[in-house]
Amino acid sequence: MYLTKQCPACGDTACRSWPALVSAFAQHYVLQSCVETCRLCECLECGLRYFDIRFSEEEVRRLYRDYRGERYLRARRQLEPNYDESASAGDLESRRYELDRFLRQHLQFEVAGPILDYGGGDGALIPPIFTGRRYVHDISNTSLAQRAERISDIRRLGEAPSFVLLSHVLEHLSEPLDQLRTIASVLAPEGMLYVEVPNERYRLRWLGPPTLYRRCFNLVAETRLVSPLVSFAILRLAGRPAAVLPLAEKGSSSGDPSEPSYWSFEDLRLHEHINFFSPSALHRILERADFSVTAFDSDDLKYRLLAKKVPKRHSA
Ligand SMILES: [Zn+2]
Repeated sequence: MYLTKQCPACGDTACRSWPALVSAFAQHYVLQSCVETCRLCECLECGLRYFDIRFSEEEVRRLYRDYRGERYLRARRQLEPNYDESASAGDLESRRYELDRFLRQHLQFEVAGPILDYGGGDGALIPPIFTGRRYVHDISNTSLAQRAERISDIRRLGEAPSFVLLSHVLEHLSEPLDQLRTIASVLAPEGMLYVEVPNERYRLRWLGPPTLYRRCFNLVAETRLVSPLVSFAILRLAGRPAAVLPLAEKGSSSGDPSEPSYWSFEDLRLHEHINFFSPSALHRILERADFSVTAFDSDDLKYRLLAKKVPKRHSA
């Protein structure tokens, strides 16, 4: 694990930050050390929110090698008895249908060239609009869907993909810009990229200024014995029963009510998502990786976009 001092999207160092917790699952399964707290930062330049703790390559392998497999689920449910992997993964059939519809609307032709599904698990999300070869690059060793071919090092692809799918991947990456630049380097000239990330934002407006929240956090953290009572009183004052107040924004991976919580007013807690994108942050990071956004769409659950690789300018 390491700490970042700059925004993983735009590179700016100016940010606001709130103290946050590291989930028991992340401590035991990923970090394998007792790191209880971290910081949730918000970049003042592009609006990306990110945890300052970033996972090392070894920790990433540990987390995603058997992602939502038997061993992973056993470990996660032991620490988070209410964890529901189907809610986290979503309905694959409807996601594929939606993706196909979005791409046909904006591309208006089928893609016969090779496609690379980057971080695509078993490759089952690849929609019918892609009629050519289907490469999947994924850290897990899950068995692949029909027609999908595994590629362990995308720099060794025999042919440049004309399209890359990057669906629900960027929010997991410690260095998302590096990965986007690698993708740009293997993509065919004029190649296209599809990006989808969760529309997932903590309700920071409830917390007040970071300095005030930090003082409250430290006070509550130092007095864990009375904190459930304090939290309950705050929720009652807010006029909402504690049991129904969501702990995080809709769709958040960290809204886990099963973990013991001494700070339930807002549950800033690191699980496996470490980046929370805003539209501006998405545009900024793609621009830095030499992509130009050609279509953008959002709803309550996600942001998605199409981007084109910008040709490198050669000096005369
Ligand atoms: Zn930024």
